Amino acid sequence: MSQIWVISETQSALLELVAHAKGIAQGESIVAWAFSTEAAQAASKQGADQVIELTGAKRPEDYTSAMIERAQSEIPIAILWGSTRRSKEMAARLAAALDAGLINETFNLKREGQSFRAERYIYGGLCVAREVMETAPFMAIMVAKTAEALDEGAACHIETLTNSETKIQMIELRPNLATSNLGDANVVVCVGRGIIKSEDIELARRLASKLGGELGCTRPVAEDLHWMPEENYIGISGQMVKPTVYIGIGVSGQIQHVSGIRDSKTIIAIEKNENAPIIEAADYALVGDLYQILPALLSSLGA
Ligand SMILES: Cc1cc2nc3c(=O)[nH]c(=O)nc-3n(C[C@H](O)[C@H](O)[C@H](O)COP(=O)(O)OP(=O)(O)OC[C@H]3O[C@@H](n4cnc5c(N)ncnc54)[C@H](O)[C@@H]3O)c2cc1C
Repeated sequence: MSQIWVISETQSALLELVAHAKGIAQGESIVAWAFSTEAAQAASKQGADQVIELTGAKRPEDYTSAMIERAQSEIPIAILWGSTRRSKEMAARLAAALDAGLINETFNLKREGQSFRAERYIYGGLCVAREVMETAPFMAIMVAKTAEALDEGAACHIETLTNSETKIQMIELRPNLATSNLGDANVVVCVGRGIIKSEDIELARRLASKLGGELGCTRPVAEDLHWMPEENYIGISGQMVKPTVYIGIGVSGQIQHVSGIRDSKTIIAIEKNENAPIIEAADYALVGDLYQILPALLSSLGA
């Protein structure tokens, strides 16, 4: 039977991808590639028809040769990927090996017969490009939070694929303490260049922690000032977030940033310039100096 594959190293993305795959399937079976037993079990109950659990290697990239080999024999009609740095790397390797087209950061995916139609932002979020792909396998990296995981049902078969062959030897594994879970956060506090010194980010961190949220930043804070890791910047070329509450602090709200937050339920801006674009995008704006507003807010929250 013809297949649609979904591949992600994170469980939440994998379950969203299964839902996307269901949306475009026309009788194909949905094969989920999972990198942990928990993710494999969840996918097996939440919509996948077959699950392949990958074990043995230390890094997801070590499995790409197994995926290529299997793809060359199964010829899946489509392969959907999660939008993480790691998945993007694997997707690029598979696309090159299979001579397949790959559409990045797709937020709207449709099937028309044997062709696939995908939408993604271009020109820094000002326009939407609609792209059609007619040759298999169609490959797309799906924007996070654009589908809901499916309800639980009967579990399907889980196949275990072990790969202990890798040319890379793991010397030491250290947790990256700087990484955050912005994509899944309910509250996102984001710092922009309105923050004067890197130490002042601590004020925003305290607010995020008090609200049980995650801390992100704008691209210049990460890429130009290097005050936060690049994984933490939000926007069209960074992380797309969809929290219940987004609070921008000293963020001007240029289109490339707003493209990454526009699906937030409530947008709050703390910004001194009443003409900054973030004010237009926001549901609530505190217009004034963040160095007065933030301490007052923290003290009223008891943080
Ligand atoms: C192709 C491309 C892709 C891009 N992708 C992204 C992306 O994914 N994400 C992203 O964030 N950017 C992206 N950018 C950059 C983007 O265009 C903006 O330059 C950037 O978002 C601006 O960051 P900022 O709001 O921190 O800084 P600024 O635009 O400098 O804004 C700082 C704001 O802080 C306010 N401020 C200053 N002092 C205070 C104070 N004391 N109290 C309150 N407010 C204060 C100012 O009024 C100002 O509005 C991209 C650019 C390009 C060209």
